[in-house]
Amino acid sequence: MKINWFPGHMTKALRTMEKEIKNIDVVIYVLDSRAPFACLNPEFDKLIVNKPVLIVLNKIDIADVEKIASNDIEEKIKNHFKTKVEIIKLDSTASGALKIIAGRINQLCSDKIEKNRLKNLNSFIRAMVIGVPNCGKSTLVNNLCGRGKAITGNKPGVTRGKQWVSVSKNVQLLDTPGTLYPDLSKEAYAKYLAYIGSIRDEVLDVNELACFLIDDLEAQYPNCLEKRYGISLEGLNYEKLEKIAVSKKFLLKGGEVDYDRACAMLLDDFRKNRLGMISFI
Ligand code: GDP
Repeated sequence: MKINWFPGHMTKALRTMEKEIKNIDVVIYVLDSRAPFACLNPEFDKLIVNKPVLIVLNKIDIADVEKIASNDIEEKIKNHFKTKVEIIKLDSTASGALKIIAGRINQLCSDKIEKNRLKNLNSFIRAMVIGVPNCGKSTLVNNLCGRGKAITGNKPGVTRGKQWVSVSKNVQLLDTPGTLYPDLSKEAYAKYLAYIGSIRDEVLDVNELACFLIDDLEAQYPNCLEKRYGISLEGLNYEKLEKIAVSKKFLLKGGEVDYDRACAMLLDDFRKNRLGMISFI
């Protein structure tokens, strides 16, 4: 799959992240549960060797939870890290995230808390949310900080720079999440990242992507397209797209099939969860 990508951006982002990581006690690493392994960046893992990590399997409300459970995904992700790890499944748009996250952070940082307690000191734990684009980082940060508490740091014309926000008695959160550049070295993961909207469509060939999505859906979720569009789909992918387009009356002037519109719809249907609970692993 062709992606117009600039690896230099990743190096720069990793360097910035390396500096920020030094100031924090725990990393909140957000993964999209629809493609959890694809959201991991092995280059970033090298930066967090000594930091405890709270993995958030986010968007669990729109993922294939059965597949995640039956494939031991939580265990496999935990084993991916060499540091202290906790893992939670979360819908960041729902309330109650703070209680779960604060509890797990305290567990992860129990050594520091205990050390300070013995010295009669209060422990402030500093956390930072990170993840690839569109995995739900900002949604989670807003959820943890509370809607009422304005995050002013990055608004143009207001205070510049990042700020720490108290999210519980002893946990402070960096108000700006860290964006991880997606690792595109594995073709399958690059495709999954593109499906879930982590790579901007502008740098992709959307029609090619739609054809890949058809292949992956048919391999892993047979009949989900037939079920969605109510037609039987046979032949090559362009013939399937043609059938979908015709059934939706996506026609150009002169009666030609509008493939572009069919491809865009297919991707949108996947992203808006209309094809069912799907996770690519
Ligand atoms: P970011 O680029 O990582 O900061 O991602 P955003 O926080 O902007 O979220 C991207 C999209 O995913 C938005 O439309 C959110 O509403 C949606 N989103 C985030 N978290 C969840 C979740 O847990 N469940 C669902 N269903 N949608 C979510």
